[in-house]
Amino acid sequence: MSMKTIQAQLAAEVVARPREVERTVTGVATSDGAGVKLTRVLTNTLQHRLDPFLMLDSFRSDDPNDYIAGFPAHPHRGFETVTYMIAGRMRHQDSSGGEGLLENGGVQWMTAARGVIHSEMPEQEEGVMEGFQLWLNLPAEAKMGAASYRDFPSEAIPEVRTDAGALVRVIAGRSHGVAGAVERPLTEPLVLDIHLPAGTRFTQSLPADYNAFVYVYRGEITVGAREERVCEKRMAILANRADNDGMSLRATSDARVLLVAGRPLREAIVQYGPFVMNTREEIEQALADYRDGKLAA
Ligand code: MN
Repeated sequence: MSMKTIQAQLAAEVVARPREVERTVTGVATSDGAGVKLTRVLTNTLQHRLDPFLMLDSFRSDDPNDYIAGFPAHPHRGFETVTYMIAGRMRHQDSSGGEGLLENGGVQWMTAARGVIHSEMPEQEEGVMEGFQLWLNLPAEAKMGAASYRDFPSEAIPEVRTDAGALVRVIAGRSHGVAGAVERPLTEPLVLDIHLPAGTRFTQSLPADYNAFVYVYRGEITVGAREERVCEKRMAILANRADNDGMSLRATSDARVLLVAGRPLREAIVQYGPFVMNTREEIEQALADYRDGKLAA
């Protein structure tokens, strides 16, 4: 726990009717970029169920062959990417001249919107590289807005220690009265990295219609009043019942969990690789703009 960690006092998250697990999901091993091995936890078959979230990739390896090739220059349009490094160093460079080094515990929040061309390359030749990349959709009216990005070093991620003993890193949204590094009014994303000693309980209030999931990246937990078990490297989609006022979990071993929730956009989703728009025509326009050098102009 760092000096900036806030002790939760009067801001407990009171949850009377927590969500239950709708289903658990095992990630799919794949590779992306120039051959980076990763696990795709949120695949495109879940984009409607977990709207506004489009993708979650998890990567963790101590074999440089799995990550050294990185992600050379490539485009994006129509959404936001949130990259969270648990361990390792990754250099970002983009078409607008933006550059940043993402390190242990840091977050990069990139709004691709109308267009970004960027590279994401490891800045290490050995050791562990571990982290996540989450794709967050933009509403139709914001897909062609200006691109931007922000880097948050680990020290800039607010943390809160709950009375029950959970350490919560508030990447986006609010938890236990603490505002996260990022707040986005369009989709109100909540992104928490929760560290739980064995036996610890954690609760978080959530609007009933927000889509939500947890991903257990260390240890094991149970979710909800039914205490359904969720093992390491599993995602649990949390059910949306109209009377649910939040979620609860309990660590059955020392555990680390990502909790992700947001307001669904309920718009058409048309994805072609790194472009996510509302119609085929907009995808064709993105391809033409990229080909003509106008995507990120
Ligand atoms: Mn990218």
